Amino acid sequence: MTAARSWIDTAELWACAVHEAGHAVMASLYGLTVRQIVVHQRGSRMTDSGEGGRCEIADQLDTIDASPFYFLVYQFGGAAAEHRAIGRRSSRDARDREQAENLAWMMCDCDASSPRIAQLLETAEQLASARMLDDAVWEWTHAVARVLLKKRRLSGYDVHQLKPQRPR
Ligand SMILES: [Zn+2]
Repeated sequence: MTAARSWIDTAELWACAVHEAGHAVMASLYGLTVRQIVVHQRGSRMTDSGEGGRCEIADQLDTIDASPFYFLVYQFGGAAAEHRAIGRRSSRDARDREQAENLAWMMCDCDASSPRIAQLLETAEQLASARMLDDAVWEWTHAVARVLLKKRRLSGYDVHQLKPQRPR
C-alpha cells in the first residue's frame, strides 16, 4: 500500500511557487496572456495529480497570435524554473510533459510515433532552459515566486509589474 499523498510543507510550497512563476514568466516572454497564477496554503493537501498550484493563460491554441510553438516553451517553463532554483525535477514536470506531448502531436498533425514530435519537444525544452539561465529572466521569476508565496494568487498584470526595471 502506498502512503497518502503528502501535505504541502514549506519547501514544497517554494518549489510550487517557483514552478508556477516559471510558467507565467515564460508565457509573458512569448506573448501569451497570463490570467492568474495560484499556490495553495502550506499544510493543505496536494491534489491527486501532485498539484500545489496552477498557472492559467487566456490563450487557446487555435486563436493565439503567437506561434503555437511558444505554447510548448510555456509548458516547459515550470520545470526550467524549478530546475534552476532547486536543481531537481518533480511530479509536476511529468504532467506538463504529457500535456506538451499532446500539444506537439496536434501541432505536427503527424503520427504519434513521428520523430518530429520528439524534436519539437526537445527544441522547446531547450529554449525554456536557456531562457531561464538568463539572469534577468531568473530574477523576474524569483520575484514573482516570492510575491506569489505571500499573496497566494497573482494576476497577469501583477506578473508584468514585477518585471525588474533595468537602467539603460
Ligand atoms: Zn507546470
